[in-house]
Amino acid sequence: MQITVHRGNQIGGCIVRIDCKDDSIVIDMGSNLPEGDHKASNELAPQDVADVVNGCNAILYTHYHGDHIGLMRFIPKDMHEYMGEGMKEVTETMCKRLTRAYTHHKEEKDSDKTEELARLNDKEHFHTFKPYEILHFGNIKVTPIPASHSAFDAYMFLIEAEGKKILHTGDFRLHGYYCENFLRTLAEWGKDIDILIIEGTMINRDGKGQEVHVKSEMELLDEFYNTFLEEKYNLVLCSSTDADRIASIYNAAFAAGRHPQIDRGSFADDVLKIFTKRAEGRKLYDFSYVERIPKRLKERTKPDLAYFNAGKKDGFVKIVTSGFFHKDRNGESGFTRMCGKSKHHFQMIFSIWNGYYEEGRKTQLERYKDVRTLLDEKGHKFKAIHTSGHAKISDISKVCRITKPKCIIPIHKEAKADFSTIPGIKGLECIIAKTNCNINDINIVLLQYDQS
Ligand SMILES: [Zn+2]
Ligand SMILES: [Zn+2]
Repeated sequence: MQITVHRGNQIGGCIVRIDCKDDSIVIDMGSNLPEGDHKASNELAPQDVADVVNGCNAILYTHYHGDHIGLMRFIPKDMHEYMGEGMKEVTETMCKRLTRAYTHHKEEKDSDKTEELARLNDKEHFHTFKPYEILHFGNIKVTPIPASHSAFDAYMFLIEAEGKKILHTGDFRLHGYYCENFLRTLAEWGKDIDILIIEGTMINRDGKGQEVHVKSEMELLDEFYNTFLEEKYNLVLCSSTDADRIASIYNAAFAAGRHPQIDRGSFADDVLKIFTKRAEGRKLYDFSYVERIPKRLKERTKPDLAYFNAGKKDGFVKIVTSGFFHKDRNGESGFTRMCGKSKHHFQMIFSIWNGYYEEGRKTQLERYKDVRTLLDEKGHKFKAIHTSGHAKISDISKVCRITKPKCIIPIHKEAKADFSTIPGIKGLECIIAKTNCNINDINIVLLQYDQS
């Protein structure tokens, strides 16, 4: 058996291929994460993607973030691909929106997802799976195990073949909602693991390999609640495909007596409907109580009307997405109009990674420049409330100790992030694959690509 990891020593764009005697699978086909507004350099070319998947039985996706599905359009059309049902529905909605933006508003060519949509709708080659549904690819058996991440319907994969067991964690965390059963599941399913392929995004976040405090989604809920009590009118910027975060925001709004609102017909509205439909007993993901506000027309002319009338007495919490900051030809955005024309003071809360908006950061996005200045000028408040979608060091250690693998292959991490310094891993009798090696007849090949 051979496990080939492409780009394991970087955050995002990691691809894993598992080859057995007659069968093989590939996990994820994501693109390099961009740095700020700059496109990632040295991306895989269509031919590279075709070479990576050549002859494999299937390509499986852990979740819908771009650094995991971004290169799917280069996969040859006759290959078979697999996604979770909810994951596929959100991906499709996302692709439709982006393509519409490309067609109607002449957005960048990258927004054209016609190719991805055709692929997702190809019933013969694109398939879905359910949690714990066992998939067979020749002699390879794969069990998708639901994982908590900042994406809905994300998975880990347990791969069994030639008498070996491999667990691929994908992106995951243990400080989100509905994580209670996960460790129990892992203790049951993750026994006798030969190879653990695990993400290490949070390792070395402080540059020293030490644990940094990571707030849980529950702590965030409290923080949102207290924040909403302070101010009546609240706009929150967050990812519209992160069900946990939206649950924290709207549940806090509800508890604080503010109207939870969303633009009717927006992308976020479509995604909330998918979460609600697929909540399956997880009450936090049922967003049917959210007020859908008829949008745009009023926002353009009198920004106050659309929101403030609807939640005038009790106040409101409205989720906005990056589009709210998108400047038109006149240099105006929904945000600048709101700041300029609103007669009421409001609170702008950023619930995204601080690298996207902090002044002077290399990763800062153009659309978030001067947001703070404008808010200050007009007397509106700014607040940042956010936590990571990735496992903290102690939780990575926990997963390693439960699964007791013979070998750990770290992926989705900074090049200098070192797993051997993690407390709790040192004592384990396992090898951390840093170079090509052979463990119990499994050939491990680590391929790095120059990102410069
Ligand atoms: Zn990722
Ligand atoms: Zn992710």
